[in-house]
Amino acid sequence: MTELPLITHWVDGAPLRGASTRTAPVFNPALGAVAKNVILASATDVDTAVASAHAAYPLWRDTSQAKRQGVMFNFRELLNARKGELADILTAEHGKVTSDALGEIARGLEVVEFALGMPHLSKGEYSENVSTGVDVYTLRQPLGVVGIISPFNFPAMVPLWFFPIAIAAGNTVVLKPSEKDPSASNWMAALMTEAGLPAGVFNVLHGDKEAVDALLVHPDVQAISFVGSTPIAQYIYETAAHHGKRVQALGGAKNHMLVLPDADLDLAADAAVNAGFGSAGERCMAISVVVAVEPVADDLVAKITARLKSLKVGDGMRGCDMGPLITKVHRDKVASYIDLAQTDGAEVVVDGRGIEVDGDASGFWLGPTLFDKVSTDSDVYLDEIFGPVLSIVRVASYAEGLDLINRSRYGNGTAIFTNDGGAARRFQNEVQVGMVGINVPIPVPVAYHSFGGWKDSLFGDAKAYGPAGIAFYTREKAITSRWLDPSHGGINLGFPQNA
Ligand code: NAD
Repeated sequence: MTELPLITHWVDGAPLRGASTRTAPVFNPALGAVAKNVILASATDVDTAVASAHAAYPLWRDTSQAKRQGVMFNFRELLNARKGELADILTAEHGKVTSDALGEIARGLEVVEFALGMPHLSKGEYSENVSTGVDVYTLRQPLGVVGIISPFNFPAMVPLWFFPIAIAAGNTVVLKPSEKDPSASNWMAALMTEAGLPAGVFNVLHGDKEAVDALLVHPDVQAISFVGSTPIAQYIYETAAHHGKRVQALGGAKNHMLVLPDADLDLAADAAVNAGFGSAGERCMAISVVVAVEPVADDLVAKITARLKSLKVGDGMRGCDMGPLITKVHRDKVASYIDLAQTDGAEVVVDGRGIEVDGDASGFWLGPTLFDKVSTDSDVYLDEIFGPVLSIVRVASYAEGLDLINRSRYGNGTAIFTNDGGAARRFQNEVQVGMVGINVPIPVPVAYHSFGGWKDSLFGDAKAYGPAGIAFYTREKAITSRWLDPSHGGINLGFPQNA
């Protein structure tokens, strides 16, 4: 039997095997087979990676803005030219179809392009003569070594939300990607090296809880950016904050789409299918609940059902609409909600089990699944299922639908479908959710706005990328200066007053 490839860390500008001997399997989910193994870092390996980032920091911080920008520009060009290679890695390890993989990379590229404006975005402010002969100005300076911990569902885009901004601002990085699809991070780190990034500025450390825990308490790590499920996000936030770090921890979601009776139902049905089943529902901005305001539910369910019948499920490399789920364990868990829905009194309109696929029979498949008349007491409604499962909840009014959304523990994304501008405006004002779409089902903000939810979808105050990303990866320093002139006032122990 041939030995499977081993994915190693990327530290100090080169692959690193490290001290740990623990490994985890990396599957090709469309084949249902282990394709590679990934090394899982020990605390000693975390020390090695942080030491590399820590050693690289002073020189990178003091590298001119022009030179830093030059590296980021080269990276942007290389990534754009070679995105097909990265898309293939995403499809092979995550399972998402090629068009979706390219979409993920395009949204990541947007952040790289945003980070190219760092010299402008991180400019300070200057006030002249605030007191006689005294000027005050602010600088935005990098933090030092920052840790990034990312989830399996966007192996390229989520790291790209963070490291281009962190690095362009003069920080150095240790990225701990998901151990389920780790290769994209190594590929991007090697590309950064090719773009001219000095060794040690961007390190990738593979691992699980052991590596994460060591990062969270490491005295040389200044900040943690995390994206993943809510329980882990909360743990990360509390642990890292307890150890004095700046933390942003983005968590899970259960996104509702409210369809008012005046909406264009074909547009709403297309949107529900695209946002519910793209990436097999493994998106934190997926729509998982359609809240239909009566009397439109019957029509809407019929339109969604018709569309689901035409979706082609299979190997992401073969031009299908939807690929497999990430692991067998996850597929089985998602599929278990079909029995639960039945038990809890929902109507299973489309059952995704046992569908025909264009792919290997051993792949982690589950077809599109639709539940109607879902009770809001059921775990089908309450849990983040994170698969190709869409629930319809029927309500009598806008107010009832809004109340439902606002009572959810999550507040990542939501959407309203209507032709009534007044209703949409009221919704954007009243809804307790961090990102809102108006006739747009996946309202992921462009890179020059910031991404993040409310409530249990985000712990900490800082959203990702955009202005919030600049603020997160820099800290402000205020300087009050006076160049001596003969009018200085001598000793005065009173609190300084401006005059
Ligand atoms: P996860 O929470 O299982 O893992 C995320 C990261 O945390 C991984 O790197 C993992 O290795 C690490 N980790 C896992 N368990 C840990 C533990 N006990 N202690 C320390 N570290 C641990 O999430 P996932 O399954 O990889 O990703 C899916 C989740 O991410 C979903 O809940 C989804 O909604 C969420 N997500 C949120 C956003 C957002 O922007 N809010 C974006 C993408 C994904």
